[in-house]
Amino acid sequence: MTQAQAIMNQLSDRINQMQESATIKMSKMSRELKAQGFDIIDLSLGEPDFDTPQHIKDAAKDAIDKGFTKYTPVPGYAELRKAISLKFKRDNNLDYTPDEIVVSTGAKQSIFNVVLSLINPGDEVLLPAPYWVSYAAVVELAEGKYTEIPSTIDTNFKVTAAQLEAHITPKTKLIIFSSPCNPTGSVYSRDELEAIAGVLKRHPHVFVLCDEIYEYINFTGNRHTSLAEFSDIKDQVITVNGFSKGFAMTGWRLGYIGAPGWIAKACDKMQGQITSGTCSIAQKAGEAALLGDLAPSYKMVEQFKKRRDIVYGLLSEVPGLKVNLPDGAFYFFPDVSAYFGKSFNGTTMNTPEDISLYLLREAKVAMVSGESFGDKNCIRLSYATSEEKLREACKRINEALAKLA
Ligand code: PMP
Ligand code: GLU
Repeated sequence: MTQAQAIMNQLSDRINQMQESATIKMSKMSRELKAQGFDIIDLSLGEPDFDTPQHIKDAAKDAIDKGFTKYTPVPGYAELRKAISLKFKRDNNLDYTPDEIVVSTGAKQSIFNVVLSLINPGDEVLLPAPYWVSYAAVVELAEGKYTEIPSTIDTNFKVTAAQLEAHITPKTKLIIFSSPCNPTGSVYSRDELEAIAGVLKRHPHVFVLCDEIYEYINFTGNRHTSLAEFSDIKDQVITVNGFSKGFAMTGWRLGYIGAPGWIAKACDKMQGQITSGTCSIAQKAGEAALLGDLAPSYKMVEQFKKRRDIVYGLLSEVPGLKVNLPDGAFYFFPDVSAYFGKSFNGTTMNTPEDISLYLLREAKVAMVSGESFGDKNCIRLSYATSEEKLREACKRINEALAKLA
């Protein structure tokens, strides 16, 4: 028995069966290569390169000085939940009372709380694909069974209400999706969401976790639509949001849900046994983010839009790469299947993983393969980095792909 096998025997089946997060794995790899002196352009992690706005940082400093340094209520400070309740009304025309809101250590924890609170072993969960990597992992952790609902670049990676309905069975408990979407940047329109709401109304045993963490990063010019706005199905929806993307607060670890009271209560109980209330200082910063000036967030969105247009132009020039124009978030999810079967130096490309590793080696550009997002043809690149790096990365990608024959 090798040492690795001996260790695996000691660990739980739960952890042995869990996939490592593909986004985290790739960014770790890229960090290590950089530390070894390689000139890597890291487009792997979905993280705004902007600094957290000054007034939010000031609120955190103030919180320390005012002694907000103790344990916090498990679902979050009352003031923060009140601010989130106001934000839901202001931005989404949604009525969530503070006791229907739970603040967590990142939206990632919010999602884990919800899934672990709702899913029993064997329950079915639908994942419109491509989907964010951790959705599948948490369903597996809860011993649920997930089914992917496939979509391709030709439909802008969106599933239709009819497709969704065709996948619902009596055992379907939950649907998880994001709009704007990670990894595709797709944004469901109000009409598309209304059609999905119609399906849910016909299947009242099905809940939906609607991940709106990229809400602000929306280039459609239309107001963001929350699925919970369709009042007939609001009780079936758990709205997830957070501060990481819209306020460039990834390191602060702050996310939240708005949900029916009984689900919020379950998440509160779950969190009370796992992490307790999230960081007091981050919560005070979050309050300032929601109630303060949103202009810095709008400026970031303008920058993202500018970068999106640049990258779209550059990637569209790469022969064989199939690209669409994403309406939100900060990702491209190009289809690289035209390169399958081609080789360089004796290595043949058969999967998006092969292509992403080839591009890491050959172009020194780090991106994440589509497989962990439930897609077999695409790779994801995050354009949340400087224009200069993006231009250089696209040039390197183009040159490296041209070597495949
Ligand atoms: N949902 C989606 C779709 C994401 O891309 C991410 C990654 N930031 C999260 C949730 C988790 O965000 P955080 O834990 O940083 O709030
Ligand atoms: N959500 C970001 C991403 O998809 C950050 C990494 C993670 O939390 O998985 O890259």
